[in-house]
Amino acid sequence: MPDAFADHLTDTPPAPENSLAAYTTLRLGGPAGTVTTAVHADEAVATVRNASAKGLPVLILAGGSNVVVGDAGFAGEVLLLRNRGIEVVAEDAATVLVRVAAGEPWDAFVQYAVTNGWSGVECLSGIPGSAGATPIQNVGAYGQEVAHTIEAVRAYDRVADETRTMTPAECGFGYRSSVFKHSDRYLVLSVDFRLDRSTDSAPIRYAELARDLGAAAGDRVPSQQARDTVLKLRAGKGMVLDPEDRDTWSVGSFFTNPVVSAEFFATLTGVPHWPAADGAVKIPAAWLIEQAGFPKGFAGAGVAISSKHTLALTNRGTGTTGALLDLARTIRDGVRDRFGIELHPEPVLINCAF
Ligand SMILES: Cc1cc2nc3c(=O)[nH]c(=O)nc-3n(C[C@H](O)[C@H](O)[C@H](O)COP(=O)(O)OP(=O)(O)OC[C@H]3O[C@@H](n4cnc5c(N)ncnc54)[C@H](O)[C@@H]3O)c2cc1C
Repeated sequence: MPDAFADHLTDTPPAPENSLAAYTTLRLGGPAGTVTTAVHADEAVATVRNASAKGLPVLILAGGSNVVVGDAGFAGEVLLLRNRGIEVVAEDAATVLVRVAAGEPWDAFVQYAVTNGWSGVECLSGIPGSAGATPIQNVGAYGQEVAHTIEAVRAYDRVADETRTMTPAECGFGYRSSVFKHSDRYLVLSVDFRLDRSTDSAPIRYAELARDLGAAAGDRVPSQQARDTVLKLRAGKGMVLDPEDRDTWSVGSFFTNPVVSAEFFATLTGVPHWPAADGAVKIPAAWLIEQAGFPKGFAGAGVAISSKHTLALTNRGTGTTGALLDLARTIRDGVRDRFGIELHPEPVLINCAF
């Protein structure tokens, strides 16, 4: 069976055996101890259990679109999650509850939902990776995040050695975070999404998207139109995977948008911002990076800021993880010196440090 997550890698020369570069959208990362592909949830659980019994560390990988793997690789068990399936498990007049297997490619599910007249994830079109990874960092874009529609997450808990169903409260969703991120306790097996029965989108919340749609904030538009417009906007920023376009050899945004206290924000002048939770203030990292002297295209050794999007750090084909992280540190330090604000990486760093 063709690997649904490997299409974007067809242009790259074959990597050495077990090289994790073959499984990441950055095309970076050294060798794995063992790589096991699981196409059923049971196999995935058994792989993780066996590795634990042998005292081996485990790395769960699906699309490899939100990981930075060190050049030394990962000396343990790498589980490639490839279980598939989309199933309606409950429905009423207004909504459907859809169970999506963790290894299902996310964007294929979004298109399936739009085609079936299920609304609530259309603005998350074009995000690479798997459905099972979306709760890990509460994937979000263009005014939607999966926390808006997730009703339950089925996960194998390695500490309790049992599979259980977790509520959204137990998932602890926040801005690009959850209990799953930076933890190897849980293996997500499937995710239940509660979607509205409607061919119209959820209310449009994102100003740039509303503008492109010719709509006002809060309007609903046909979901397919919302999806097409999001895909167009994302492609213009190199945020849809395209093997021909090295601006997309990335993990998407490398830095999260920093959130600062209102008191600290009051000490800054002329800085764009949005309100965040609890009276805090969110600042666009891309703006800070540009103002600190790092324009689009700013390059390191075989790596560079994307020519289309300041937040994406990219491998130009000859990069290494070491060089990527050097570039990231240079940017972080420059922003800290200029604004006194600390940038934090969005992807999960595996066997490497920032
Ligand atoms: C071009 C581009 C654009 C992007 N745009 C966005 C965006 O707009 N918004 C956004 O939020 N993200 C974005 N991302 C980041 C990324 O696509 C998402 O975070 C995605 O959900 C990662 O899925 P994946 O299957 O590739 O995860 P992987 O990279 O394989 O894994 C990411 C992390 O999740 C863990 N993990 C994965 N699956 C499971 C599982 N089933 N159980 C337990 N742990 C698991 C891994 O161990 C790892 O720690 C973008 C990335 C790229 C390359």
